[in-house]
Amino acid sequence: MTPSQALQIIHSKTPLLPKVEITLISALGRVLREDIRTREQIPPFDNSAMDGFAVISDDLELLPNDLAIIDEIPAGKVPEIPLESGKCIRIMTGGQIPINTGAVVPVEWTTQINDTIIRIHQKPEETTFIRRASQDVREKDIVVNSGIRITPPIIGMIATAGYQKVMVGRVPDVALIVTGDELYSEIGALPPARIRDTNGPGLSAQIMEVNGNVIGSITARDNKNSISDAIINSRDADVIVMSGGVSVGEYDFVKGVLLELGFEEVFWRVRQRPGGPMLFGMLESTLVFGLPGNPVSASVCFQQYVRPTLLKLMGGHQIHSPKYKAYLAESIQKKSGLHHFVRGIAESQEDGALIVHTTGPQASNLYSSLQHANCLIHLEEDVINPSKGDPVLVSRLPWAMFE
Ligand code: AMP
Ligand code: MG
Repeated sequence: MTPSQALQIIHSKTPLLPKVEITLISALGRVLREDIRTREQIPPFDNSAMDGFAVISDDLELLPNDLAIIDEIPAGKVPEIPLESGKCIRIMTGGQIPINTGAVVPVEWTTQINDTIIRIHQKPEETTFIRRASQDVREKDIVVNSGIRITPPIIGMIATAGYQKVMVGRVPDVALIVTGDELYSEIGALPPARIRDTNGPGLSAQIMEVNGNVIGSITARDNKNSISDAIINSRDADVIVMSGGVSVGEYDFVKGVLLELGFEEVFWRVRQRPGGPMLFGMLESTLVFGLPGNPVSASVCFQQYVRPTLLKLMGGHQIHSPKYKAYLAESIQKKSGLHHFVRGIAESQEDGALIVHTTGPQASNLYSSLQHANCLIHLEEDVINPSKGDPVLVSRLPWAMFE
């Protein structure tokens, strides 16, 4: 099984969660599940782009010209007095353009003669300082499409379109089960032969980054009963993410216990590094990911397989991180046979091209190789010892920026 085959199979098993209505201001990061049509055209009416004076066109023929100020239109006020020759209306940015207006003259192009008279010095192009109705969006146009993940400007646009509530995909309930007798989650000195738990908090945060709902984070012991209890307690989840215990060691009970509980194994093992022993299947309608325990493997597998799945459950259309071309800043040792996800730091050069170097030693227990990375370098199965300067594809890690 290659990584792309694995992804395809996972997606074929991934259902669409129902939609729910929520308030717009709480929708950041959620997946929109309706097309948003603007209620009105945007802008809804012709309005001034400047603080200045609305005048009729004829009064701009011979300049300078003195005009009588007959009204004042701040933003939000409906103009009532129509413009006439020899007269002007003081108008503010955003103010509605009065009837008969030929142009708006910015205040900087005028001098105030007295309280009621203004002198116009310069003629603007007819429409320069007028923002026309529907210039941004026409009435009833779709402004945001279903399937998009909601960002701050999407919230701004939906609000501008006239909505305070939106239909979004329900967030998936994700149960996290980390396994390992060696894991120590208390504060204080680490007892002999124990290690701190990286995956519980780290994977929880990765679930939350994509707006998943962590319904429980359980640490199970390396015995069948403990793992079985943890799984039974997690059966209401949409997704169970497990870490550790999926390899071939004497204490790797996860797969066996799952099978005893009725697990439908879809695949075990992917031709990749890190994360080779990954397990995927279904426990009734719950999707189960058995990620290897090494923290880099768990995190990279999450990024590669679980994150797109959570987005797909919510109804997301663009669920994969896009890949960019970058040039290797160093050669990498690699045999053929496995797809490698190398943790990298991509930097943009002055000409905009990306160069990428690795974060150093890539063993899957070296969590700092992930911490310092801003991208994954994708080296396909058949690639052997890529050299410095070779083009490669990289995908940005969702929490990081290219430098
Ligand atoms: P396993 O997949 O259970 O064989 O674990 C592989 C390696 O990852 C072992 O060295 C474990 O100690 C380590 N490991 C497993 N789970 C965690 C965890 N939650 N946090 C940190 N290291 C872990
Ligand atoms: Mg283990």
